[in-house]
Amino acid sequence: MARILITSALPYINGIKHLGNLVGSQLPADLYARYQRARGHEVMFICATDEHGTPAELAAAKTGEPVADYCARMHEVQAGLAQGFRLSFDHFGRSSSPQNHRLTQHLAGRLADAGLIEEVSEKQVYSRADGRFLPDRYIEGTCPNCGYDRARGDQCENCTKQLDPTDLIDPRSAISGSTDLEVRETKHLFLKQSGMRARLNDWIDSKHDWPVLTTSIAKKWLNDGDGLQDRGITRDLDWGVPVKRGEHDWPGMEGKVFYVWFDAPIEYISATAEWAEANGKSDAEWERWWRTDKGAGDVRYVEFMGKDNVPFHTLSFPATLMGSGEPWKLVDYIKSFNYLNYQGGQFSTSQGRGVFMDQALEILPSDYWRWWLLSHAPENSDSEFTWENFQVSINKDLADVLGNFVSRVTKFCRSKYGEDVPAGGGLGPAEEALIADLTTRIAEYQQLMDDMEVRKSATALRAIWAAGNEYLQAAAPWAVYKEDPEAAAGIVRFALNLIAVYAALSAPFIPDAAAKMAAAMGTDGAWPEDPAAAFEALAPGQSFTVPDNLFDKITDEAREGWEAAFAGQRG
Ligand SMILES: [Zn+2]
Repeated sequence: MARILITSALPYINGIKHLGNLVGSQLPADLYARYQRARGHEVMFICATDEHGTPAELAAAKTGEPVADYCARMHEVQAGLAQGFRLSFDHFGRSSSPQNHRLTQHLAGRLADAGLIEEVSEKQVYSRADGRFLPDRYIEGTCPNCGYDRARGDQCENCTKQLDPTDLIDPRSAISGSTDLEVRETKHLFLKQSGMRARLNDWIDSKHDWPVLTTSIAKKWLNDGDGLQDRGITRDLDWGVPVKRGEHDWPGMEGKVFYVWFDAPIEYISATAEWAEANGKSDAEWERWWRTDKGAGDVRYVEFMGKDNVPFHTLSFPATLMGSGEPWKLVDYIKSFNYLNYQGGQFSTSQGRGVFMDQALEILPSDYWRWWLLSHAPENSDSEFTWENFQVSINKDLADVLGNFVSRVTKFCRSKYGEDVPAGGGLGPAEEALIADLTTRIAEYQQLMDDMEVRKSATALRAIWAAGNEYLQAAAPWAVYKEDPEAAAGIVRFALNLIAVYAALSAPFIPDAAAKMAAAMGTDGAWPEDPAAAFEALAPGQSFTVPDNLFDKITDEAREGWEAAFAGQRG
């Protein structure tokens, strides 16, 4: 038994995620976690909401809630949706937790002790009316380029020109509208990533099994131009982890918080500590996943994320952990994804374009979405959601192939033999051939799942379903029954066993339907580690039930209705 630590990139707190976000990290991470658990491995699967930073403050200001209340409420919303999609996190934490405050402050203190933190003076806009420094995007004014009167301090959204706040004509605070602004000097802490360059380079060079795409992105950031830059790790904001040096105040840093990029990945670790606390476990229980001096030496750590997150997880977060001088577990493998597009354009949270997680669950069960998204995961290139493709895929793969097989076998058996697995007959050449074929296919499927080849795994699973259908069509127990009911009973018993095996193999992709199939067959859904034995696991006389229809087909009418309903922006 291996020990596998799995983290998904943290969804940001300001709103409900769309399906492109879901398939870009959380969903494939769940597929992998479910599969590894089914194979008997010890898995720790961690995710959390990323709650700090300016966008959270802005979103809270919009709803009129205190930012802490807003984050608490949105965390519950996101946790509910994760549950709705059957994301099997061992813990879904919050980056605003006390654990993350303590660990972030601790690591910053260690980095300072190691000489890896520098204090830098910067000039920044201060609003006297608001009593605070303003981040660039909190400053509005007239664009010097196009004259748009609501340009932001970082960019004009009318002409897209990148701006500095001091470029704006008649600048004002986006919070209060006050024009009583001045440029003040303020101090910030910088992580001296440049000083870690050689260590990071050696570490990345040691990762022989990483995809070229991952290492090339990391190397580009490490070596291009002036090389890896030092990065600010503090901000003048109210909402965040207060800057402290371990447990001590940090002179000159009063009223400042750590920058969200610094504390968010630390939450992977802190969320595991939250898991321990929530389950009444000792610190040693989470430390054995994260501290190589406390048992994590044999852990394999896999991270899932969108490709835009790769530089950050190959450089900045490892720099934090390595620089601390403490034996933290570093990532062993990074699985990254491209983008899912929507009907010829992009999914967009800010423009409300596409299908969002809450909307998806309102119209169809999660298995339908899980199957389509995973079988079309944007692995080696971007992929595209279209309603037409979705309809075809669901109707063909789930309804016609898997659902139909389960329905035909169980209903035929009930009508001819009742709701017990029939005795009689046995395995003939056709069954032996299918067992040999499926044994090979199952081994291939397992290898693909181990390798996190998401789309290829879906293709392999679909082929396993299809092989059962083809067998049933050729064996035709409904025809055989007329001449030889005993021989037909052997075919039906074998086909019922196939359903039980399919339930186990399908569970990582479509857990709800798989659970219904296993329950109908009266099995526990255990993985067919010995396929030959698994195909004879259901004994004659054992009772089964006919499950309700597993998948409804998507009609043209429904597809057209959704296509129209989701054509515009979400309200
Ligand atoms: Zn402009």
